[in-house]
Amino acid sequence: MMSVGNESKSRRDWHELVDRLFAGHRLTAAEGLSILRSDDVELLDLLAATYRVRRRHFGHQVQLYYLKNAKSGLCPEDCGYCSQAKGVETEIQRYAWLNEARLLEGAEQAVASQARTYCIVASGRGPSNREVDHVASAVAKIKEKYGLHICCCLGLLTPEQATTLKAAGVDRINHNLNTSREFYPEICSTHTYDDRLATLKACRDAGLELCSGLIVGMGETDEDLVQVAFELRDLKVHSTPVNFLHAIDGTPLERTHELNPRDCLRALCLFRLSNPTAELRISGGREVNLRSLQPLGLYAANSMFVSDYLTTRGQPAEDDFQMVRDLGFEIVITHNDTAAAGVPDPAELVGTAAESL
Ligand code: SF4
Repeated sequence: MMSVGNESKSRRDWHELVDRLFAGHRLTAAEGLSILRSDDVELLDLLAATYRVRRRHFGHQVQLYYLKNAKSGLCPEDCGYCSQAKGVETEIQRYAWLNEARLLEGAEQAVASQARTYCIVASGRGPSNREVDHVASAVAKIKEKYGLHICCCLGLLTPEQATTLKAAGVDRINHNLNTSREFYPEICSTHTYDDRLATLKACRDAGLELCSGLIVGMGETDEDLVQVAFELRDLKVHSTPVNFLHAIDGTPLERTHELNPRDCLRALCLFRLSNPTAELRISGGREVNLRSLQPLGLYAANSMFVSDYLTTRGQPAEDDFQMVRDLGFEIVITHNDTAAAGVPDPAELVGTAAESL
């Protein structure tokens, strides 16, 4: 898009793009590709322009999410990036559903970690109705005791299961698209992209917030990333977790190491500028892929996971707290605090100037 020797023009162009977004323009595919393919010399200008969008919608706030793997491994599906998939021989913990006491313990850890949202995650294609009832019962108690914002990631859900979870107090469902429609068959053969869209639709119809994101670095093209960014924008998701592939030995993608930290930052800029009002979360693979550039990611994203991921370790929570303090940002601790601080709910922005950015 811009030459290495034309830095003043590059600075002007990224800010011009953001000015147009503020005026109601929607990012085009060509602009999305130009972000992903921009030169390293433009990176700070791109980030500075992206930061204007982040600041407009989320100020200096950082939302922390705490994950609990409620059921680990033993999954019959074959997602190529996942250490919990069938036939993958990795050294992970494998266990059936945690009991209610353990799920409540996780909520307590979430509070101790200054997380706003407690994410209850289970491996598998999708839960049985009995398993949904188990989660629903635990969530009702967690809501009463801790008042945490609750997100569940349980695989494919039926409309009835989504309704049960909503009635129990679940706020949000995470169900990632993971990649583009075209690339999806390359990473999974046991369910389809349309299966995933159907679950998202069932959850939306049940009144649940949608959290849906992707994994960068699985061998997809830049076009695939732009496509999934636009699909998530069209779905009006509340929240987009951006994972960076942490290739785990024993998985089909074990030798895939495509990313450098600058690529990760460009991807975060793409997702912020394509869907300005959605929460953007730096997710799995943050430490190993962004490495020393992690703090810069928060100029595009407004949230991140704290502590460990599903089957891999994260950095100590205190390092994350320090990073947020060093940036001069502040952690949003509770759901209610967010409302009080004036951070908009994307659903409330539909039809406003902000939504059309
Ligand atoms: S991502 Fe989920 S559905 Fe796919 S293999 Fe892993 S646990 Fe199973």
